[in-house]
Amino acid sequence: MSFDLASRCTAQKEQHLYRTRLNLQSPQTPEVTINGQRYLAFCSNDYLGLAAHPKVIEALSLGAKKWGVGGGASHLVIGHSEPHHELEVALAQWTKRERALLFSTGYMANLAAVTALVGKNDTVLEDRLNHASLLDAGLLSGARFLRYQHNNADNLQLRLKRSQGNTLVVTDGVFSMDGDMADLPTLCQTAKAHQAWVMVDDAHGMGVLGRTGAGLVEHFGLTVDDVPVLMGTLGKAFGTSGAFIAGSEELIEYLIQFARPYIYTTSQSPAIACATLQSLRLIEQESWRREHLNSLIEQFKEGAKHIGFPLMESQTAIQPILIGNSEAAMLFSEKLKQQAILVTAIRPPTVANGSARLRITLTAAHTANHVEHLLDALASCWKQMSETTP
Ligand code: PMP
Repeated sequence: MSFDLASRCTAQKEQHLYRTRLNLQSPQTPEVTINGQRYLAFCSNDYLGLAAHPKVIEALSLGAKKWGVGGGASHLVIGHSEPHHELEVALAQWTKRERALLFSTGYMANLAAVTALVGKNDTVLEDRLNHASLLDAGLLSGARFLRYQHNNADNLQLRLKRSQGNTLVVTDGVFSMDGDMADLPTLCQTAKAHQAWVMVDDAHGMGVLGRTGAGLVEHFGLTVDDVPVLMGTLGKAFGTSGAFIAGSEELIEYLIQFARPYIYTTSQSPAIACATLQSLRLIEQESWRREHLNSLIEQFKEGAKHIGFPLMESQTAIQPILIGNSEAAMLFSEKLKQQAILVTAIRPPTVANGSARLRITLTAAHTANHVEHLLDALASCWKQMSETTP
């Protein structure tokens, strides 16, 4: 018997689902170099343009000089240092919660929180379009796992009636592939009426939404009472890497005791914690980044409407263009690449069958000229596509 890996990969190719990686030869900025060619990229989650910010780079290198590079061990052994502590305190204050807990990735933060909070005799209810890490966490938890229709509180209510034990309602804040926002006020009210807790993964809202950038929860003026478990990632608007869970003192102490993906892994580099603290200062102080990003989103939506693109409901920096078929989405992405524009085609299983798309993301590091350029390229590729596809 042998593992037939090659034929599974071949089948992916035949269905236009094969994935390849780009080998970047430049930092994460709007203009990137790949194979010696310059491209204007619209697929990074570096929403505020902080990934290559000089102050963040400086904080990282000073942090490495002072604290070293490696975390050395798990937080509970000897891997928790002063920069981790300072960052946790700052993130808790910023999100208006008692405490925050750092993780090395968002994927792990989600696995940790969900699997620690619900188990065999409990229930986890998730939006159908939640990020893969949340869906995996629900399955791994061993709790009764039900999905509700996208952003639909009535459908959630039906599921809540069938729940048992402790019930956790889990949703993306901003949906990663559609860009729309969860209707948190209604979802929270519905969950509360059934004594369920709400967990929000605000990977794509943190830093970008809300007056101080504290995300979708701040945008809607909700409190820790509405959203007891708040997760944010640091690899997107913060421009660094890692993630955190913010909540009550009791929640964080509980996770430290029981969350296996927290306990059994090496801590994030202390130098990254130093860089992230600097990013947080920029997020708080430089609100112009959010304002500029919002004006680019408006410009893009207006321009795309003018060309006649089938845009989705999104008001955020994630502006997908729905194509449908994976082959056509790949072709569109390839045509844009020929015009030196980089936009990745997102295909199943990341999105549902028949809903392949170009996931365009805008960042505060883009300029109005960049967006103009993107719109021109989209219009010309769209025209070519409609001439060649029946
Ligand atoms: N949640 C959402 C909604 C995400 O989009 C992502 C990253 N794509 C994650 C969690 C995982 O975060 P990380 O990349 O830090 O593992």
